[in-house]
Amino acid sequence: AVTLVWFRDDLRISDNPALVAAADSGDDVVACYVLDEETEGIRPLGGASRWWLHHSLSALGASLDQLGVPLVLRRGAAGDVIHRLVEDSGAHAVVWNRRYGLAERTADSSLKSSLTNRGVDATSYQANLLYEPWEVTSGSGQAYKVFTPFWRACLTFRTPRAPLAAPDSLSSPDGPGLDSDELPAWGLLPTEPDWAQGLRDTWTPGEAGAHERLDDFLDGAAQGYKNSRNLPAVHGTSMLSPHLRFGEISPFEVWHAAQDHKDSSTAEDIRVFGSELGWREFSWQLLYFNPELATVNYRPEFDAFTWESSTQAELEAWQRGRTGYPLIDAGMRQLWEIGWMHNRVRMATASFLIKNLMIDWRVGEKFFWDCLVDADAASNAASWQWVAGSGADASPYFRIFNPVLQSKKFDPKGDYLVRFVPELADAENVHEPWKGSAPGYPAPVVDLKESRERALSAYKALSES
Ligand code: FAD
Repeated sequence: AVTLVWFRDDLRISDNPALVAAADSGDDVVACYVLDEETEGIRPLGGASRWWLHHSLSALGASLDQLGVPLVLRRGAAGDVIHRLVEDSGAHAVVWNRRYGLAERTADSSLKSSLTNRGVDATSYQANLLYEPWEVTSGSGQAYKVFTPFWRACLTFRTPRAPLAAPDSLSSPDGPGLDSDELPAWGLLPTEPDWAQGLRDTWTPGEAGAHERLDDFLDGAAQGYKNSRNLPAVHGTSMLSPHLRFGEISPFEVWHAAQDHKDSSTAEDIRVFGSELGWREFSWQLLYFNPELATVNYRPEFDAFTWESSTQAELEAWQRGRTGYPLIDAGMRQLWEIGWMHNRVRMATASFLIKNLMIDWRVGEKFFWDCLVDADAASNAASWQWVAGSGADASPYFRIFNPVLQSKKFDPKGDYLVRFVPELADAENVHEPWKGSAPGYPAPVVDLKESRERALSAYKALSES
């Protein structure tokens, strides 16, 4: 008998409940991944994520080969493709780990019923969130609106289960393997121009790379994380986000490794790190209950907000890291170069776009979606709404990040600024280059004080309307 394992956002062999179920069944195993750009409502991946997916699938394919099972790659509407794979392989069961977006859930549940109707077992597992979004809800059975009580309730509800070991080996059906697409033919990698050099230099997509990041973090930056997580020049965070996004490592593995590492000197650092994983859970609960989180204001009163139709030139200055504000430009160039940006700088760049340029948060959300290797449907949308003030537990509208004060406080020597904006190396004043000579560096696109006041009065008008 054959069980089909359908990999999705869980590109790993350890702590993979669907894979373990297939291995434990004693069946022969067929493993597949489907590139689905056809099912309605499933958001196409951005450019940086496509780059990541290519390398992650290649790593997963190699691990599965070692276990004795090839990874079959197919393209198309996943529901149809899985039915075809069931026919081709003669599978009597299909297993997968859950996804939580509305379009994904809808597709999965209709596939489950159509498989069941044909006498094929279909079973799904919890793998990518510590808590299912519906498990720990507020009194009214809805999503929590505030993070702190949500996370407290989660931790009281249940200690995250221990991770599952990877299967030692799997058996593949006899006979010729199933047809598989060639990964390069999917065209996930950039060609002309090849913008991925910085990504290649920075990341090792795949499960081994994820565990290396985790080990490095626990042996290094975890100590002092509570403070150093705010310093963009320092390697002070785990950089696990793209690995978690593609499920190359599970939150259960990260959680337990961190807990096991805790001692009296790191207890507070590990607690804070755990609560960052909690923000990921919180974002997914918000998305589960508000499926349109990337496009619709969580707080409907924000629908009345009039965004400034800022000039295209201002938007482009932001996208290209040429606003004339060093922290904003360093962040946007870091994003462009390595497909990732430090959290503090994400907050500052988002605040600048929304509040100083008065450009709709959705424009920023889309740009990050395209450029981030960790672009995550829930965390990206929830974070943009958090900065805009339109989200749950949002930053209050009058909190406008001042990029000059932020870099003076969190990057006092300007190391981060100069690393990503090399022309600032010669500036007389690295935090406020307009105050002296700064050859080759642009003048500010907007005045900080005026644009701040403009935003405050627009937000004030909204709160009074
Ligand atoms: P660490 O500090 O090491 O944290 C560990 C893990 O916790 C992260 O890998 C991540 O999975 C999770 N995490 C940490 N902070 C947050 C947070 N605020 N919200 C949700 N999860 C968090 N994160 C994404 O994973 N994908 C996104 O698309 C994304 N978009 C963002 C957009 C904006 C405007 C902002 C302000 C934040 C965004 N974040 C996003 C959250 C956060 O910036 C990143 O998760 C973090 O910078 C990743 O770096 P790290 O892995 O070193 O984090």
